[in-house]
Amino acid sequence: MKVVAFLKRFLRLHVFNPEWSCSVCGEENFDGGFVCKKCEQNLPYNDKIVCEHCGRKTEIREEYCVTCKENMVSVDKARSVFSYEGTIRKLITIFKYDNARYLAEYFGDKMTLLYLKNCFNADGLIYVPMEEKAERKRGYNQSRLLAERISSKTEVPIFECLEKTKKTLRQARLNRKDRLKNLEGAFKVKKRKILKDKTVVIIDDVTTTGATAEVIAKALKKSGAKLVYLLTVASTPAFNIANKNKQRDRRKNGTI
Ligand SMILES: [Zn+2]
Ligand SMILES: [Zn+2]
Repeated sequence: MKVVAFLKRFLRLHVFNPEWSCSVCGEENFDGGFVCKKCEQNLPYNDKIVCEHCGRKTEIREEYCVTCKENMVSVDKARSVFSYEGTIRKLITIFKYDNARYLAEYFGDKMTLLYLKNCFNADGLIYVPMEEKAERKRGYNQSRLLAERISSKTEVPIFECLEKTKKTLRQARLNRKDRLKNLEGAFKVKKRKILKDKTVVIIDDVTTTGATAEVIAKALKKSGAKLVYLLTVASTPAFNIANKNKQRDRRKNGTI
């Protein structure tokens, strides 16, 4: 099975040009895009009602949704291109775990448009770093690829001032207390001078709990950054997180 997976991956990366087939349905696609027109129309764009602060899809327009009120106080504003549901989950998974680095171009261009639309006007972009060993294993850092693409389009430089010094567990499965504990001391700010009174944008693939961005934004502000924004490919809808939290609390209290 491993051999088949390897061959498939090898063929996709080295023999077939990713621009010849749709990354969602796999059908032939010769218009130069990574996603065919039909699939593009069905992607869950996050362009309807969103929380003013964290940019998550919400059911009613609100200034702060239930999730960001407690999780994202140091981030001044966040926006994401897609809602993290449906086919976009598959695309992000292959982008992160299956070497589909070419999707950085596709996602990065959409993030650039959103960056401009929201007038982020930043002095620098900061990607979420990976721990050295983890990055070596994957062979790339998807957040850096996104930041490089956005930087090449907007001419906003990348600030190499953050480093991940500790391996962390996946955030989504932990409760708030464990999340913060998991992230404690995970990121280190270097070259503080570059941040003084600057507006920066954190670039990442998905906003799930928002805790990672919060920890990073807090550290950046402590190091002198004036405004910290967050731009991601996708974010979990606010009500999904609220429901999950409720379920977890009920489980904890023994009511389910
Ligand atoms: Zn398609
Ligand atoms: Zn919110």
